[in-house]
Amino acid sequence: MEGYAGKILRVNLSDGRVSKEKISEEMREKFLGGRGFAAKILWDEVSGVDPLSEENKIIFSTGPLTGLPLPSSGKMVIASKSPLTGGYGDGNIGSMAAVHLRRAGYDVLIVEGRSETPCYIAIQDEEVKILDARDLWGRTTFESQDTLETKHGKNIGVLAIGPAGENMVGFANVISQRGRAGGRPGMGAVMGSKNLKAVVVKGTGKIPVFDEERLREMGKEGYGEIKGKENYDFWIRQGTMQVFEWCDENSCLPTYNFREGTFQFSKRLDGYALEGVKVDRKGCPLCNMQCGNIIKDLENKNTELDYESVGMLGPNIAMDDLRKVGVLNRMADEYGLDTISLGSCLGFLMEASERGLIDARIAWGDLDACKKVIEEIVKKKGLGEIIFGGVRKAAERVGGDSRDWAMHVKGMEISAYDCHACPGMALSYGTSPIGAHHKDAWVISWEISTDRFSYSREKVEKVIELQRLRGGLFESMTTCRLPWIEVNFGIHW
Ligand code: SF4
Repeated sequence: MEGYAGKILRVNLSDGRVSKEKISEEMREKFLGGRGFAAKILWDEVSGVDPLSEENKIIFSTGPLTGLPLPSSGKMVIASKSPLTGGYGDGNIGSMAAVHLRRAGYDVLIVEGRSETPCYIAIQDEEVKILDARDLWGRTTFESQDTLETKHGKNIGVLAIGPAGENMVGFANVISQRGRAGGRPGMGAVMGSKNLKAVVVKGTGKIPVFDEERLREMGKEGYGEIKGKENYDFWIRQGTMQVFEWCDENSCLPTYNFREGTFQFSKRLDGYALEGVKVDRKGCPLCNMQCGNIIKDLENKNTELDYESVGMLGPNIAMDDLRKVGVLNRMADEYGLDTISLGSCLGFLMEASERGLIDARIAWGDLDACKKVIEEIVKKKGLGEIIFGGVRKAAERVGGDSRDWAMHVKGMEISAYDCHACPGMALSYGTSPIGAHHKDAWVISWEISTDRFSYSREKVEKVIELQRLRGGLFESMTTCRLPWIEVNFGIHW
């Protein structure tokens, strides 16, 4: 079957063994790629282990369209047993590492074991090395990207963790290209537990396809179709931030730790406010509708904003200035922390402080206090000691009635859609395989445009349909779902 590089690369960090395995026809047909491959491998090879132990494995998995000249195909899935939830966890990331991995001849990278000292994996086509990363340990994801580019050249793919991953913070993620993030359920912590600072990939080969000319034509048509869509220009202006105003109007904007669904200062944060401070845009490889909005934060540094990050680090903690949100967002990306969980953790601490359940005072919207807490989370000191494992574990420590307002499902913090009046979205969060993530079934826009308050069978069926498309098809093909959702790019089968 064409479309696959055809190989799994397996690296054992305990004994330095590197092996290459063929992917069977049956595996391709049944599990497609991306999440499908990752779930199958973890199911077969990992059970009953501590997520941060040597026995856990982390899977970097691409799909049959990854790296081909097709719209938004520069993504991969990173999956493992999650330290945040204790169950299956994954996240997708847009990165040149996905493209290079396939060009190097691999669909999947499995990392197992644990290195005795900090290391990184360097892949160049057939050559695979485990290299010393002691000079990178303690560095931010941005610094690590810079250093690795200096060592290996600019034309590489890098997946790096920051100090949060090194210290095994429960919601540490993986960062690529100074702002592309993935692996919400603690995939950065799993890398940290293995002393794995980064993966660097360079591939120079070709990805085998059945009909290259037709593929190129289809790609050209697809890119052209996206550009011609009615909403394309608006998307380019605001990206996912176009949904901010809609959430506020429909009372589903996470506000004051999800206590409210609208924010009195939303106009200072919405997509139009963003347009006023936006200086550039960035995105994943092979995408022509790049959604990363670059702004200068309050400290005059570049940071990349999207709706989820602004929702959780803005109204959810009553931060009323995009440039302040930008500071927190940048710190999260540098340290390798998931912004959704971070916003939820900060909101939890603010509410706990207000209710007198913790001694420390952390006021709503206090930027300096938030910066201090982020430093503490990364070091697992002070308030960080309470919150580094996410809000579920924090509620166990804080006590009182905090379980009632620790906003999570299965231990994963809720994404930036308040579903107090959207039962379909609540169902979607509740049944997502990885916890409260919007990626599997973002049913809320359909729900609000139809019969918002109903508990109908039709709504349940819609959640299932979306879970199969978003969590099944897109996560296994490992292409971005946003062209389909946001500009109505057709999917046909
Ligand atoms: S739409 Fe955004 S998330 Fe999707 S591929 Fe493009 S840049 Fe990446």
